[in-house]
Amino acid sequence: MTMSSADTHCPYCALQCAMTVIHDGSTTVAGRDFPTNRGGLCAKGWTSAELLASPQRLGMPLTRRPDGTLAETTWDEALDAVAAAFRDTKAAHGADANAIFGGGGLTNEKAYQLGKFARVALGTSRIDYNGRFCMSSAAAASNRAFGMDRGLPFPVTDLDDARTILLLGSNVAATMPPFLAHLAGARANGGLMVVDPRRSATARLTEDGAGTHLQAAPGTDLPLLLGLTHIVIAEGLADRAYIEERTTGFDAVRRSVAAWWPERTSTTTGVPVAQLRETARRLAAGRTYILTGRGVEQHVDGTATATAAINLALVLGLVGREDSGYGTLTGQGNGQGGREHGQKADQLPGYRSIRDPEARRHVAGVWGVDHDDLPDAGIPATALLGELGGPVKTLLVAGSNVVVSAPDVEAVRARLEALDTLIVCDFFLSETAELADIVLPVLQWAEEEGTMTSLEGRVIRRRQALPGPDGARSELWIMAEIARRLGAASTWSTNPAEVFDELARASEGGIADYSGLSHALLDTGIEAYWPYRSESTPRPFAEGFAHADGLARLVPVEAAPPTPTDRGGDLTLVTGRYLQQYQSGTQTRRVSELNGARPEAQLEIHPATASRLGIREGALVAVSNERGTVRARASVTTDIRHDTVFLPFHYAGDECANRLTEARVDPTSAMPEFKRTRVTVALDATV
Ligand code: SF4
Repeated sequence: MTMSSADTHCPYCALQCAMTVIHDGSTTVAGRDFPTNRGGLCAKGWTSAELLASPQRLGMPLTRRPDGTLAETTWDEALDAVAAAFRDTKAAHGADANAIFGGGGLTNEKAYQLGKFARVALGTSRIDYNGRFCMSSAAAASNRAFGMDRGLPFPVTDLDDARTILLLGSNVAATMPPFLAHLAGARANGGLMVVDPRRSATARLTEDGAGTHLQAAPGTDLPLLLGLTHIVIAEGLADRAYIEERTTGFDAVRRSVAAWWPERTSTTTGVPVAQLRETARRLAAGRTYILTGRGVEQHVDGTATATAAINLALVLGLVGREDSGYGTLTGQGNGQGGREHGQKADQLPGYRSIRDPEARRHVAGVWGVDHDDLPDAGIPATALLGELGGPVKTLLVAGSNVVVSAPDVEAVRARLEALDTLIVCDFFLSETAELADIVLPVLQWAEEEGTMTSLEGRVIRRRQALPGPDGARSELWIMAEIARRLGAASTWSTNPAEVFDELARASEGGIADYSGLSHALLDTGIEAYWPYRSESTPRPFAEGFAHADGLARLVPVEAAPPTPTDRGGDLTLVTGRYLQQYQSGTQTRRVSELNGARPEAQLEIHPATASRLGIREGALVAVSNERGTVRARASVTTDIRHDTVFLPFHYAGDECANRLTEARVDPTSAMPEFKRTRVTVALDATV
């Protein structure tokens, strides 16, 4: 066995820690020096090689037999069946009866090709992806405010010199531990301010003088931000010169926060007035960053909440400065690139609107098709899932496990079962793949070439270290083979470097412009923050914002009076993550060390609440509302508020937290409500 190795990046989150994969019969990984991780990896990264050699890897395509079982078949048979399903569905029900559901972990090349495949090979508008559940509200807010959505519009290393960091709804100590090194400066200054209803691992980092934990009630992040903005303005802490020079809309925002005086904000959020005032004053003291995460974004008012965070940052004059800023911490591995290249329902490559006639002409020209033949904008993920088994008859899922990750998953499962044909591309038999009529086994990160775009908007190379299993194929090859069988127009390269070159041409002139980049250029090790035509742009707002007038938009937002989100129960469920698990757990639940450490979901509940309900540590409990019931062991802890319980969302079946979440969505971004669900908790009567 000859040894091979490749410098690449971790297969999991958007920090995209650099690693070297070494293959000499067995496969190991080693951390590699890179600005985001400085050689460090978390437990997920260290154990990621186990995914490659897992005995649970899919090695051949599977098709559903008449007896209901999935059985191995040849690639020709499987792809013929896929093409026939798409062809027959279109003939019988129209182009929009075929649909695609993509993922934020796919490489840029695959995300791009998936969007092109939907619009050109299938002619359908029905494409969206799981990033809709992840970043869509923050993306909508950033696009509206700045004219551009780049998660962090500055290098991560800028955070090292911060005096104050306000971190809202992000448990980075569990999700991306190497990131904590970038919080050290703020902690040394007593300036790490964490907003979370739980005393999470990250909130604990504020203790011993390192900062402040603002333990706001779930779903009150928007009032909290309005209240902080009120204090900043009322105490004369706003940066009037910056507001005048670089923004519009200040007066409307000033009026919108006028009634959020500290006492009202405190009553609404549960955060003491003194903490609110201290936080506002610290934020105004310079070298300050405001960062948001899914905890404040995955709400029906997610866009308004992210907008309120941006307003606060703009009023303080933070955005576009070298030593301060606002950003949102992208979660999925290619959460940033995944939303730039066309797998979103309303977008074409380059982060351009599919409704823009000029963008349609440009992209159609690159694809060699008539722009009039491109479908219109489709519908967002939750609505798309709602059409399954109704108007949508055939669905291809790539890089997503929707029966664990979508809101109200039992309803989603029923709709998947109502499809004529479900096709799933995955490297494991995920819970979604278990329902499929056709399963197509694909390659993993260390078995393929490509690019990813990190949470900083930095385009990086994913490199092949070893061959995949004999029967697995790249999604690029799969799409090309189906397109050929359908007689689709355009060309369908299976070479990632060629697909990237086409992506770069299609993105030219767009917001996320990659036109100056290529695999060969990236291989030289250059810094490549987009937009990149001839040079890198690490801080795109340094000279001005991306709106035509160069100004940022302050947009007034209102906090709706609290209403019960559903009939539910008397406790509020928040969901989140464990250090050892990732997203829907398709990968990490198959890694022995990770799953051994966190084999099951636990319900965090406050001792007083547990006592009231007769629940002891370790008891099996049922967490219920009108959508379903989740069973989990109780973890009794003072880390959580009396009125709140917590479940991780990595688990399937009876432990699946998204049995309880609802499909109601944010009107601007279509982000579902994942973080505020009414539930009742009781001892599990089934044991
Ligand atoms: Fe991988 Fe994220 Fe962990 Fe880094 S922090 S090793 S990218 S999972």
